[in-house]
Amino acid sequence: MKELYEEESEVYETKAGNRDINNNEISYECDFSSNEEITSKEIADAVHDETKRDMMEEHGDVMNESQREMLDSDETKDHLNVISSQEYVDRFEEVPFNVVGHCDKEGNIFIKDISMPVIEHVSVHETMHLCADRQEINMENGDTKLVSGLRETTFHEDGRITDKNEKINEGITEMYTMRELRSQELDDASESIVSYPEARVWAERLEKLVGQENVEAAYFGTDKKSIEREFNRLSGNDESAWNRFSKDIDVVENSQDMDEIRHAKERLFIQYKTIYMNKYMG
Ligand SMILES: [Zn+2]
Repeated sequence: MKELYEEESEVYETKAGNRDINNNEISYECDFSSNEEITSKEIADAVHDETKRDMMEEHGDVMNESQREMLDSDETKDHLNVISSQEYVDRFEEVPFNVVGHCDKEGNIFIKDISMPVIEHVSVHETMHLCADRQEINMENGDTKLVSGLRETTFHEDGRITDKNEKINEGITEMYTMRELRSQELDDASESIVSYPEARVWAERLEKLVGQENVEAAYFGTDKKSIEREFNRLSGNDESAWNRFSKDIDVVENSQDMDEIRHAKERLFIQYKTIYMNKYMG
């Protein structure tokens, strides 16, 4: 079960200049007092705290009570780990080499110690996953469903695992991450890595089409249905529209097959045009 479920590992395209550093205990010079060094963990903690505060302030009204309590506590920092690339690779053998961090289903965050801007970017992104609505639901048929934002991973009794909304959830996570990095004025961090670029652009389009409040309610809150309902309604009451959209986003982010990607992009654009026409010209 553990091996197959990739626990929101982040695959980033790292821009030139960011090298993987395998040393332990990297320190960075602090901008404010040149004599003091600030550790990687302190860098991650600082943006983690500010991100939690900002998300509670901006989206707390749609979060459930236990989620707010969890985010309000200082304990989340105990679950935030910055480790050397070597240790990361040793501990998470199944995770591909180009992954720079992940948040597991217990809310533990692991970040590779690569550079200050990358740590900041990844810390905000993984903290965003923590701020997203998280639920573990035991279904009547014996299946277990893990919910994280819009993503639903179902562990079936027969051992199968199915995933829904994986990449659009990453796109939304990264959209909120980029906004938060801009609001914390961390320009180097926002430019340091590019993650889920296609899904992020579609997340922004999605907000414009179905409304910011529906995306917010599905990601930070428990109302997962309104976004789907509105998307399908705007698609001419096509009940399968959302599922096709979500699967095509997975294809665009996951596939290695250029033809398959091109077809998915064509279908996405037709859907976009239909919704746009229905919203603004219908
Ligand atoms: Zn992620």
